[in-house]
Amino acid sequence: MSRKRIIAGNWKMNKTPSEAKALCETLIPLVGNDDVEVVFCVPAIDIVPVVEAVKGTNIGVGAENLYIEDSGAYTGEISADMILDAGAKYVIIGHSERREYFKEDDEFLNKKVKKAIEKGLVPILCCGESLEQREKGVTIDWIRLQIKSDLDGVSAADAKKVVIAYEPIWAIGTGKTATSDQAEEVCAAIRACLAEIYDQETADAIRIQYGGSMNASNAAELLSKPNIDGGLIGGASLKADFGQIVNA
Ligand code: PEP
Repeated sequence: MSRKRIIAGNWKMNKTPSEAKALCETLIPLVGNDDVEVVFCVPAIDIVPVVEAVKGTNIGVGAENLYIEDSGAYTGEISADMILDAGAKYVIIGHSERREYFKEDDEFLNKKVKKAIEKGLVPILCCGESLEQREKGVTIDWIRLQIKSDLDGVSAADAKKVVIAYEPIWAIGTGKTATSDQAEEVCAAIRACLAEIYDQETADAIRIQYGGSMNASNAAELLSKPNIDGGLIGGASLKADFGQIVNA
C-alpha cells in the first residue's frame, strides 16, 4: 500500500501577514518535491496572503483551528467555510496546545473532525501522550482512547481522508525527539487501532505523521519507518530546515 508522504508545517502563533509572505518566498524554492504533499498550516490572518503567495506551487495551505458551527455569534472563531473560501484545504485539530490551553476535549474534537470532513477540509488530527503517561507505561492505551473518541462515528470512507499526527507532548518544542523506534511503535499501534475500528484496508490508507522536534538532522531516520508517513513540524517549519525535511 503506498501512501503519499505529507509534510506539514505548523506555524503556530508566529508571523504577521507580511512576515508570512516573506517566509513563503524563502521556503517555496526549497520545498518543490512532487512526491510529497507539502502543507503550510498558518494563523487564520495569514491564510489569504499565504494562499496568494503559494499559487502555482505544490504547496497546500491549512488552518490551525476551526469552530464546529457554520456561522453565528461565536466571537473570535472561524468556520470551515471561511477557511475554504480563503483557499485553505487542511485544518489542524486537537493539537496538544489547544487541548491544554483551550481545554479542548475529545468530545469537542470529534465534532471538529466531523465538521471538517463534512465541509471537505482535510483534518490533521493530533494525538499524543505526556511525559508522565509515557513513564507510567500507558502511552498506547491513551493514544488508542484519543483515536477512538476523536473518530467516533466517522465512517471508514471518511476516515481515509483524515491525516493523524502522533505528537508526544514531551517532544513538542523541547528539542527532545522520540527515537525512531519509539515513534514507529506508537504509529504502528495507531494503525492497528484503526484496523480494529475499521478494517485493514482503511487503516493502510490513512496517513500517520510524527511530530515533535523533527528537524533536518532527524527527519530521514524517522521517515524511514514503515508506519511514519510524514511529519508535522513546528519550530523547523519557520526556517530553511523545512525544505531539508521535505526532501529527507
Ligand atoms: C508541533 O507543534 O506540532 C510541533 C511538532 O512542534 P515542534 O516541531 O517545534 O516540536
